[in-house]
Amino acid sequence: MIRSLLLTAAAALAAFASSALAQAPQRIALTMDDGPHLSATPRLSPQARNEAILAALRKHRVQAALFVTCGNGADRPEGLALVQAWSQAGQLLGNHTMTHLDLNSPQVSLEQYQDEIQRCQQILTGQAGLQRWFRFTFLREGKPEAKRDGMRAWLKAQGFRNAYVSLDTSDWRLNEFLETRLKADPQADVSDIRQAYLDHLWQRAQAYQALSRRLQGRDIAQVLLTHHNLLNALFLDDVVAMFKARGWQFISPAEAFEDPVYQLQPLSNVAGQSLLLSMARSLGLGRFEGWERLVDDGDYEIERLGKPDATAR
Ligand SMILES: [Zn+2]
Repeated sequence: MIRSLLLTAAAALAAFASSALAQAPQRIALTMDDGPHLSATPRLSPQARNEAILAALRKHRVQAALFVTCGNGADRPEGLALVQAWSQAGQLLGNHTMTHLDLNSPQVSLEQYQDEIQRCQQILTGQAGLQRWFRFTFLREGKPEAKRDGMRAWLKAQGFRNAYVSLDTSDWRLNEFLETRLKADPQADVSDIRQAYLDHLWQRAQAYQALSRRLQGRDIAQVLLTHHNLLNALFLDDVVAMFKARGWQFISPAEAFEDPVYQLQPLSNVAGQSLLLSMARSLGLGRFEGWERLVDDGDYEIERLGKPDATAR
């Protein structure tokens, strides 16, 4: 009797938990790396690209974070003005080094990498949106372990948060594809690239949500990685609209980083990937189902776009 009562209670609890899981909106925070860029692209000037991204955020009332690579423009007055526009729009700013060196490269010393962070921080100091957040370039935290641990200790001593990514994407790869097509013909139809980008983001989002449930037993606040590029200048509005339409809720990166998952430091970090993938590797999960699509740099979408019938989707 007691046993069956307990079982009934357990079943009711499980039903409650699963319905709570189904009803609670999945939270997501938007982060954007490498900007602001002063490089030329088809269709939009650097100022117009920056403004289009900020307009999409304003329209959807989303607070995002821009991780500035200072050497891409912020080290010049016209580039710093674009950073200033983020600050004035109530957006957040983080540090993504001066020149985007790869910490895992044997040619890059710990001191050199730290100097790049400090120089970029000096340029950004005084911006209202500036946080003490650091985003690793290529999401690579240093090899060998002594270098990785040296960086962890330095960041802690300097009061920097490692601004992890959980929802890694290959928007940069689709951006390359987009720019190549528009350089050949600025009037070219790009609606198939837009759709491929949305499909790519949604596939990754679902996969990382599933990985979060598997590793953490719950839906963590996801931190999405995108880049300050033409692709997002053209389609960020659609990206945010898609996530909202599918029930995902945008929160500030500051709120997302409050999730305790972002206090963890995986023993093993996968070169250039999501925190969740690093955790999966630390836990010995190996090449779990769906792993290939998370590490393929968008090959699946690019290959489909290259096929003549891809536009018929
Ligand atoms: Zn980057």
